[in-house]
Amino acid sequence: MRTRTMKFGGTSVGDGASIRRTAELIAASAAEGYAVTAVVSAMSGVTDALGAAARAAEHGQADVFRSTRMQLLTKHLQAIATCVPADERDAIGEQVSGLLDQLLRICESVAVLGELTDRGLDAILALGERMSSRIVSGCLRGLGVPSEAVEATRLVITDSRYGSATPLLDETRRATRDVLLPLLEKGVTPIVTGFIGATAVGVTTTLGRGGSDYSAALLGAAVDSEEVWIWTDVDGVMTADPRLVPGARSLPEISYAEAAELAYFGAKVLHPKTMLPAQTAGIPIRIKNTFSPDHPGTLITADAPASSHRVRGITAMKGLSVVTVQGRGMLGVPGIAAKVFTAVAREGISVLVITQSSSEQNICFVIPGSATERAIAALEAEFVLERARQDIDEISAQPDVGVVAVVGSGMKGTPGIAARVFSALGDRGINVICIAQGSSENNLSFVLDQADIAAAVRAVHDESCLDVPNGA
Ligand code: ADP
Ligand code: ASP
Ligand code: MG
Repeated sequence: MRTRTMKFGGTSVGDGASIRRTAELIAASAAEGYAVTAVVSAMSGVTDALGAAARAAEHGQADVFRSTRMQLLTKHLQAIATCVPADERDAIGEQVSGLLDQLLRICESVAVLGELTDRGLDAILALGERMSSRIVSGCLRGLGVPSEAVEATRLVITDSRYGSATPLLDETRRATRDVLLPLLEKGVTPIVTGFIGATAVGVTTTLGRGGSDYSAALLGAAVDSEEVWIWTDVDGVMTADPRLVPGARSLPEISYAEAAELAYFGAKVLHPKTMLPAQTAGIPIRIKNTFSPDHPGTLITADAPASSHRVRGITAMKGLSVVTVQGRGMLGVPGIAAKVFTAVAREGISVLVITQSSSEQNICFVIPGSATERAIAALEAEFVLERARQDIDEISAQPDVGVVAVVGSGMKGTPGIAARVFSALGDRGINVICIAQGSSENNLSFVLDQADIAAAVRAVHDESCLDVPNGA
C-alpha cells in the first residue's frame, strides 16, 4: 500500500468552495492510487474566535461567547450548505451544532468558576478541528470517495502539558497504526483533526498554535507515507513572508535543517516541529498552494542541493521582549548565566535568542512578551543576594521588540554576510538592539524595535544574496 499524508490549513478549508477544492485534491491523490490520510485545520479564524470566547467566559462575558457560538454556527452551516451533499447536510449540521453546544457548556462553567485553565482552553480550542474534519469528510464522500472523520485524540497520545503538549512517539505510532491502517486498507480516506491529541487517559490536549503541520508529519511517519504534503495559501516556503515582502520568491528545494530554522525563527508557513518526525523517518515534505495546485511549491529533504547562494530566507518574529541582566560584579564570576537561564526555565519560559557581551558585564535574551513579568520576577528572586551586594545592578526588560533572522546553510564560513546585512540596515537608519549568530552559522539573528521589522526584512531581502535560481 502506497500512502500519502496531506494536511490542509485554515484557508484551505476557509469556506465551502475551498473545502470542495481541498476534497478534489484529496480525491486526485486517491485516484493516483495512494491511500491518503488527510489532516485538517479548523476553518480560518475559528481557533482565534474560540480562544477569544474562552477568555470572554473567564471574564464572565456570557453575551460574547454566546454570540461567538452563533457566528461559528452560521459559518459552518454555510460551508455545509455549499459543499456537503444534500442527503448528509442535516446530519453533519447536527454534529457541528452539538459541538458548539459543548462550547457553550464549557464556557458557562468557566464563567461560573471565573477561571480558565490550560486544560479547559485546550478543550475549547480543539472544537474547531472537530467541526471542520466532519465537513471535509462529508464533502469528500459527496465526490464518491469513501471517507471517515477521525479524532486525533485516538491517534496522537501526548503528555499533559496543555497548550503545547509533546507527543509520546511510540504510543502515537501504535495507536495511529491501529486506527488508520484498517481504514486505509479498506479504501476509506480518514480526515483527521490536526492540532489536537489526548493524554494516555483521554483528556484532550493541543500541540500549540499552528500545530496541524506537526500532526501531519507525526501521522505520515506513523503510517509510513511516501511523502507528507502541506497544502497552504502560498507557493511553498518563500524567501520571506510574502505579506511583508511582495517580491518574495518560492524556494524549490531546501533541507530539513533549513526549513526547521526558518520555521523556528518565524516562517509561519510551517510549525517548527514538523521536520522532526519526517526527518527521522526520512520522509520528504512538500509545501503546496491549494489555490494554485500546479505550482511545484517547495520540497524539503535531507540533502537539498547545496547552493551557490548563501541565504535561503529572511524571517521575522514580533511581540517579544529583550531582558537584560547587567552589573560590574558579573565580571568573571562563573555560573551567572546558568543561574539566569535556570530561573527562566523554571518558569517554563522559552528563550529565543541569547547574547552576552564579551566584557561579561551583561547578558541579553529574548522571550515572548507575554512572559516578561514572570521572567523579571523570577530573576529578581534568583539574584536577591547579588542585587544586595550590587554585583548585579540592572534586571530590566524592553518590550515590543522583534527578531529578524537571516537563514541559510550556505552562510557557513562565508565571510561578509553580516557586513552586508548590517550595512543594508544602517543605510536605511534602522537601529539594531543586539545581534546573535548561532554557532551552527546557519543563521544570523538580530533584535530590533518591533516597528522596524517590515523595513528591516525588506532591506535585507533586497540584498541580492538570496538562494533562488534565476527565473524561479
Ligand atoms: P495554514 O493555515 O495553511 O497553516 P498559515 O497561515 O499557518 O497557513 O501559514 C501560511 C502563511 O505563512 C502564509 O500566508 C504567509 O503569509 C506566512 N509566511 C511567513 N513566512 C513565510 C515564508 N517564509 N514562506 C511562505 N509563507 C510564509
Ligand atoms: N487551528 C490551529 C491554529 O489556528 C492549528 C493549525 O491551524 O495548524 O493554530
Ligand atoms: Mg499554519
